[in-house]
Amino acid sequence: MSVRVPAKVNLQLGVGPIRDDGYHDLVNVFHAVSLFDEVTVERAPGLEVRVQASPYSRVRVDGVPVDEDNLAVRAALLVAARLGVEPDVAIRIRKAIPVAGGMAGGSADAAAALVACARLWDDREQPVLTRDDLMDLGAELGSDVPFAVLGGTAVGLGRGERLTPALTRGTFHWVFATADGGLSTPAVYAECDRIRAERGEAAAPPRVSEELMTALATGDAKALGAALTNDLQPAALALRPSLRRVLDAGLEFGAAGALVSGSGPTCAFLAETGEDAADLAEALDGTGFAEQVLRADGPVPGAATR
Ligand code: ATP
Repeated sequence: MSVRVPAKVNLQLGVGPIRDDGYHDLVNVFHAVSLFDEVTVERAPGLEVRVQASPYSRVRVDGVPVDEDNLAVRAALLVAARLGVEPDVAIRIRKAIPVAGGMAGGSADAAAALVACARLWDDREQPVLTRDDLMDLGAELGSDVPFAVLGGTAVGLGRGERLTPALTRGTFHWVFATADGGLSTPAVYAECDRIRAERGEAAAPPRVSEELMTALATGDAKALGAALTNDLQPAALALRPSLRRVLDAGLEFGAAGALVSGSGPTCAFLAETGEDAADLAEALDGTGFAEQVLRADGPVPGAATR
């Protein structure tokens, strides 16, 4: 059973004040792009996991855990517990999504493992677990997991896990510049809180951007580019100042919009056409600022069997 699952970029990441439970209230506009990990599951004598780079990518997989810290393993355990079966499964992950890059690769693998294991163990005729159930299970693993099951473009509220699909038109063309070494998501949130405290800024509760939703609904890449926002970007730039020149280079080369993806350090650039994206990718590659320059389109569907 093989499931392909997309990376995400946050078109808007609004970070509200820190809550009593330590989380932030978020407004998250998730957008799934055509950069895919593949998760294959097979019945086996016990639970095992293998992680490798996809043959089409140069992703470094050395930081990815191969024990119960791997989100795909935790997903398999959850599905097994829910269906009352032994978690005897060999999981193979082929990664093309940058690791710790702010594109939710780990969450994507968890989503793929949920879908794959449900297919493997659930009743084919009358499945116990619906897609909504899998999204609920995903929310137990992390706030980005339900979106990787759903795909497309969606607005996430709360910690990001309450999702509403967004209306979009056409295809948007993206270029991603990856960076050497990841950024830890908790460290970026902590830096965001630190910067706000230092500036004496009280974060307002975030609201969904109307400009952004209109640009999506009308398929207007130029307007979408202008409406991209990420409240974590100042923190990511403070922790990794070299990202500034990557963003500036992309804008100089004519990107309709540029922002740090999620908690970074991957930078995302929106182009107006597929041809512009190809030109932009080539120009960015030429600067040598990025570890890797990748092209992808969005929106694409969530975790799905091949
Ligand atoms: P996000 O955008 O959701 O903040 P990210 O893209 O920055 O996430 P991930 O690639 O999801 O980061 O990885 C973050 C950490 O999660 C890794 O450093 C790794 O230790 C851990 N991890 C657990 N399972 C996986 C997995 N299947 N693939 C990648 N990382 C995983």
